[in-house]
Amino acid sequence: AEKPFIPLAASAGDDARRAELDALCRFDAMPGYQQVQILRQMSEKLDVASPFFRVHEGIAGATTRIAGAEYLNYANYNYLGFSGDAMVSARAKEAIDHYGTSASASRMVAGERAVQRDLERSLAFFYEVDDCVVFVSGHATNVTVIGSLFGPGDLILHDSLAHNSIVQGAQLSGAKRLSFPHNDWNALDELLTRVRREYRRVLIAIEGLYSMDGDMPELARFVEIKRRHAAFLMVDEAHSLGVLGEQGKGIREHCGVLSDDVDIWMGTLSKTLAGCGGFVAGSQALTDILRHLAPGFLYSVGLAPALAAGSLAALERLIAEPWRVALLKERGHQFLSEARRAGLNTGTSAGYAVVPVITGSSLKAAQWANALFDEGINVQPIFYPAVEEKAARLRFFICSTHEPEQISRTVAALVRLAA
Ligand code: PMP
Repeated sequence: AEKPFIPLAASAGDDARRAELDALCRFDAMPGYQQVQILRQMSEKLDVASPFFRVHEGIAGATTRIAGAEYLNYANYNYLGFSGDAMVSARAKEAIDHYGTSASASRMVAGERAVQRDLERSLAFFYEVDDCVVFVSGHATNVTVIGSLFGPGDLILHDSLAHNSIVQGAQLSGAKRLSFPHNDWNALDELLTRVRREYRRVLIAIEGLYSMDGDMPELARFVEIKRRHAAFLMVDEAHSLGVLGEQGKGIREHCGVLSDDVDIWMGTLSKTLAGCGGFVAGSQALTDILRHLAPGFLYSVGLAPALAAGSLAALERLIAEPWRVALLKERGHQFLSEARRAGLNTGTSAGYAVVPVITGSSLKAAQWANALFDEGINVQPIFYPAVEEKAARLRFFICSTHEPEQISRTVAALVRLAA
């Protein structure tokens, strides 16, 4: 741990003090750097190559090219294959030809382009809500939306496995932040019964599909609880939009709840929608506030026109071609059922796009990931502290473009490793 900083009344001529300050103001003396060094040393000592920062040399989907070789790929969120789709790329290119590569300013001052509004209106239509606002990053969306809507005196309750961006937003807000056990609506209910009266506004933040485990909340339960306790409900659909529900409309379609049962629909453009950015869809009052006051919107550049055009094209394809969503479900269910039948530990996965294979230790996860890589299969391991040590895992992201044979081959390779 870092030594506590004790300010001294140092004079400029105090050599010892000067040396102490110089030693503090070095990046290689920061705890973060030391953490990186420990990871490097561990990987050398255990003789396992780092699986991180591998360079992909073309379109990464069900397959990818790394260092000149083809791999089966389970390490990205190109769930419906729209990143690299010729029509989606063509629409992004047209936008570049028309607008250039950047919006070059905040939308309020000079960065507004028709294609950004077209995407927002289409997302609002898709979510059956009044309006939508797009932001330049999914992570930044959660940080700025939660961080600016709530404040001291408010309470933010989030699932214990909520994404880092939700936690960061809650911390920024200055509201009291508490987590409840994963998907445990009973625990949430009890918590609210105990503490609700101590706070003004309450936000419950959950996800549509959890990217570590591939499981989801019983949304109708959360809706009932938020109504009974007078709270806002926010659902992050990063991994559920285009994945859940027959039309890919996400967790609301999967669970049969109405659009206005949820106060804040948040999502990213970087996964099914093949772009980069985030959005919030909801009531006119909510989107008006965000458009005029959320710092991450107001003081940041408008979404690049090409990204807006690409995501709009992907959304149109999603709406027009729901068979892709059915195919993704089929592939995910195939992976899950074959893995389960073979006795692999897939945790609580429901078999939609995300299936973890729990190895039981970080070392084993690293070794399995490397062994699979040697067999031409690219998958990312998840180590402690991202998950508990005994829950270290390989995390498989499945796309609609994976072939059934590729999935069977992958499960067979896992079974050999587990033997
Ligand atoms: N929310 C969730 C649940 C996520 O998984 C992620 C990223 N994986 C984000 C938000 C951030 O989105 P982006 O990567 O598009 O910034």
